[in-house]
Amino acid sequence: MRHIAYIALGANLQEPLRQLQQALQHLAEHAAITVLACSSFYRSAPVGPQDQDDFINAACRISTELAPDALLAQLQRIESAHGRQRLRHWGPRSLDLDLLFYDDLVLHDTQLTLPHPRIAERAFVLYPLHDLLGDAPLPDGRVWAQLWPGVAGQRIERLHTSD
Ligand code: AMP
Repeated sequence: MRHIAYIALGANLQEPLRQLQQALQHLAEHAAITVLACSSFYRSAPVGPQDQDDFINAACRISTELAPDALLAQLQRIESAHGRQRLRHWGPRSLDLDLLFYDDLVLHDTQLTLPHPRIAERAFVLYPLHDLLGDAPLPDGRVWAQLWPGVAGQRIERLHTSD
């Protein structure tokens, strides 16, 4: 059975745009994953310590036969393959992959929380997600009019990657 999932991608080290493009390539190459759509790329202000580079962010919609825990494990393998560095909490990283939604599943276990708990706090998640969903509600039923005010004022810009 195929499931629809949404993944957020972010990086601010080691050519971050290339990190994201390669991560999308890795996802697409997995036999049990089909990348259905990808958002624009964005440049966003770092959350937490400000003495680090801006982040590049995007999101994608996939269909997959993988169960949620297997999908998370695959995302973590891709992070590791990119030499993920976590120098400090909320600090710079070469690649961060978060599972935002897996169908309309609600899950709270030690490894995985679904929907991802911080979606509504972050412009760098909401803007790419809006590219994918348009004005349709989020898979958990939240609507955009309730979400935009929560990220107003966060610095984010769309990149024109074909320039
Ligand atoms: P972070 O360093 O912020 O990427 O957090 C990674 C940790 O968050 C891992 O230990 C995951 O098991 C856990 N986690 C919980 N829920 C999720 C989720 N929906 N997507 C990605 N990681 C998650």
